[in-house]
Formats: sequence, structure tokens, C-alpha cells
Amino acid sequence: MTQVKKFWPILTGRHHYEKTLSTRGRGHGEIIKAPILAYLIETQNGRILFDVGCDYQKIKQPGLRKHYYEHDGFPFGPPEMEEEEQLPNKLQILGLQPEDVDVVFCSHLHFDHAGGLCEFCQAEVHVHTSEMQAAKDLADDAYFTSDFDLPLNWKIQHGEYDLVPGVSAIETPGHTAGHMSMMIELPKGQPIILAGDAADLVENLEDEVPPGLCWQDNEQMAIDSIKKLKRLSLQQKAVLWPNHDWDFFQKHNVFPSFFE
Ligand SMILES: [Zn+2]
Repeated sequence: MTQVKKFWPILTGRHHYEKTLSTRGRGHGEIIKAPILAYLIETQNGRILFDVGCDYQKIKQPGLRKHYYEHDGFPFGPPEMEEEEQLPNKLQILGLQPEDVDVVFCSHLHFDHAGGLCEFCQAEVHVHTSEMQAAKDLADDAYFTSDFDLPLNWKIQHGEYDLVPGVSAIETPGHTAGHMSMMIELPKGQPIILAGDAADLVENLEDEVPPGLCWQDNEQMAIDSIKKLKRLSLQQKAVLWPNHDWDFFQKHNVFPSFFE
């Protein structure tokens, strides 16, 4: 029996970039707008946040912005994030404080998923061991050491597990070394699988196209994870949600309302 009570997708910012970053080898010269998302899950046994968006200070403060985003490693520049899009401000709309989040689950440690960790120093922070290693090794340009090199209450994970009954972590390596997706069994609606960056767009799922960035250029690993998620969604009659698809997100942008 699932312990999930409510589920909120939360928009924390936007990023414009060439579509090739989402679909490997496809979309040269085509700029797309991508939502940067977090997801809050309220359960009978506490609150879980899936990803935490960007670090607002690195976008807002000119010096930090220049250092992190305005250079050749970042050809598309910084994401856009309004003050009210910071997670503490979004949570406040729900009458919550950052301390009310018990677990932060990091799909992976890229800047647009782990940048907000500094706001959640009270929570238990889950990340896959392979992901932490790749992040420390700065395996690609989307890792910012200062996002995750923090004295947090880390809980390093080694495989698949249930966070609580009805919320399961699924290993989906490929985009990054230790990427994880999540299945959420709702009390009323169909289960939802959050692909995370295993699939940015509906197109990644439909055409089984790997993301632009693949760990050690291992495209096959990323494709295998897409296939795994599709199999699971069929078995579980679950809806599979890509993570950076603006049009797809708009259909589910109900905040502060929620899914149940
Ligand atoms: Zn990523």
C-alpha cells in the first residue's frame, strides 16, 4: 500500500539551449526552452524532494554568474530563474519551510538538479555512489563542485530501493554515471515515473534517442535506461514523465495544486 499522499511538480527556472543537448545528434541550430523542475512528494512518513534546481546566487550575482556560466564551457549561458522561483519561496506558498523536507533525492548532481542543495542542510540527501564519484571527478562541465561539496546529511546509495512504500528509486545510468529515476505510486491516480534526465523530452522516449550528454559517451547505456523505463511503465501501467520538455510540463503545471 502506497504511503504517498500528494505530489507537486514545481517549476524552478528555464533554460534556453540547442536541442542537441537533449537529443544526441538531433536539433543542430534549434534553440529550445526547457523547464528546470523539482518535485515534492508528501507521504505518510515525511516529505521527499526530487531534485532542487539551480543555485540562485550563481545566476543572480554577476561575479558568480560570470564564473559559472559565462564562458566557452557554457555556450548557451545561464538559466533564467526569478527570485520567487527559489524552492524556499515555492515551498512557502504551500505553508512549508525547507526544514519541512525530510529527504532530498538527487537524480544526479548536475547544476540544474543539485544547485539548490545549500537550502536543505537539515534533510537527508540521497545520491548514488557512482554519481557522487563522477561529480567529484568533474566528469563533465555540468558539475559545479560548490553545489555538492557541502557538509550535508548525505546518504550514499548503492542500488535500487524504496524510500517509503510507494516511492522507488530506479537506476538509470547513461546521461550520468549514477543517474536515478523514481516511481511514485499515487493514492488515486496512475503511478508516475519521473525519468529525470534519462529522458529530457517526449522525443527521447518515443524514438529512444539518448540525451546529448552521455557519461563517457556511452550512448548504449543511456538507450538501455530509456528502454528500461518504458518496460517498467508498461508493467506498472505508469505514466512516464520526461524532465525538460516544456510542452509536456505545461500539461502538468498545476502548482500550487497537486496530483493525488
Ligand atoms: Zn543533467
